Amino acid sequence: MTDHNPGFSTLAIHAGAKPDPATGARATPIYQTTSFVFENADHAAALFGLQQFGNIYTRIMNPTQAVLEEKVAALEGGTAALAVASGHAAQMLVFHTIMQPGANFVAARRLYGGSINQFGHAFKNFGWEVRWADPADPASFAAAVDENTRGFFIESLANPGGTFVDIAAIAEVAQAHGLPLIVDNTMASPYLVRPLEHGADIVVHSLTKFLGGHGNSMGGIIVDGGTFDWSASGKYPMLSEPRPEYAGVVLHQTFGNFAFAIACRVLGLRDLGPAISPFNAFMILTGIETLSLRMQRHCDNAAAVAAWLKAHDKVSWVNYAGLADDPNHALQQRYSPSGAGAVFTFGLKGGYEAGKNFVEGLKLFSHLANIGDTRSLVIHPASTTHRQLTPEQQVAAGAGPDVVRLSVGIEDVADIIADLEQSLAKV
Ligand SMILES: *Cc1c(COP(=O)(O)O)cnc(C)c1O
Repeated sequence: MTDHNPGFSTLAIHAGAKPDPATGARATPIYQTTSFVFENADHAAALFGLQQFGNIYTRIMNPTQAVLEEKVAALEGGTAALAVASGHAAQMLVFHTIMQPGANFVAARRLYGGSINQFGHAFKNFGWEVRWADPADPASFAAAVDENTRGFFIESLANPGGTFVDIAAIAEVAQAHGLPLIVDNTMASPYLVRPLEHGADIVVHSLTKFLGGHGNSMGGIIVDGGTFDWSASGKYPMLSEPRPEYAGVVLHQTFGNFAFAIACRVLGLRDLGPAISPFNAFMILTGIETLSLRMQRHCDNAAAVAAWLKAHDKVSWVNYAGLADDPNHALQQRYSPSGAGAVFTFGLKGGYEAGKNFVEGLKLFSHLANIGDTRSLVIHPASTTHRQLTPEQQVAAGAGPDVVRLSVGIEDVADIIADLEQSLAKV
């Protein structure tokens, strides 16, 4: 690309992408095809036997998807990546690769509501147990470990409250127990935080949010940090033992520091099937090209909005790590000096009813269950995303009855504040 190490914004545009070898097309084409013609019978056999990399069938791999994977791996500083249909699919494939029935993993209690459901309910049917720990207390992760534990899971910037987690401190506990640390970096994006630099082993994303960035395409990705020794303990047979699916190949031996990404693709994605569509991969690639610009504007707008809300007399508290007196401010400065993200919560003095009315009174903000759109978004978690949880779980997850969550968009900040002002006036 250039003869010195390119910066983040350059990678976001150029990493993984080159003019199309067949046509010279400069933008990455949408390879909208299910399957790829083999050169001959030997070529086909080599592809199926994992002796050679290449496209077979879009459920397993596709050239548009491959550019997305190389780009996000470069942005996170990983060795390889696997793009899939959604963030939830990425999480499912990560755990499918490290878990067996009867195994458990330890997850932070403060997570995206959908992840709390996936881990606590859907995963139970696979015989996988989740154990909850406090992301602000690394020792609580250690306390939950036993011989059946297979990994730790945290969010770098935790949903829905927007709190930064001390990744390095939890990574240290994971390392001491010989376990991989998996970090969901959706809310921060690699523009703000690169968990692999702080000791994480695997990063997952919902590409649906800031990376795609425009609220139009679902996707997820798994980034392999290449750091974890999958053969040391015998706890990860998918990686360390001969695979009957591939004539006895041992993935960790054969693929070394990108064996995890390969395992997720050839044992998980191939057989469970949540492939990303080439069109969505293209949309998300286009979004990533402007990630630096968008993310900085998101952060700058959110900081202004948080300060404005904090001074409002109908607001009881604002939970934004970018505010100088926020208890999470020191961690934000350490992990994410460019900004504190776009998603945060605040409390209305009027409680549950005020929260619902405020959300209904907004005009510029869209009331919906998403984050990371160009548009400003709002939700009242207790009556929507977190309503399946018990009241205790809601409070523990930062989604109590008075809580309103904003995902501040990249509109003009004066218009965002004007909208908040008119709706607060009616509460
Ligand atoms: C949205 C989200 C997910 C799930 O991703 P989908 O693409 O909706 O499946 C996981 N983690 C976080 C932090 C999210 O915001």
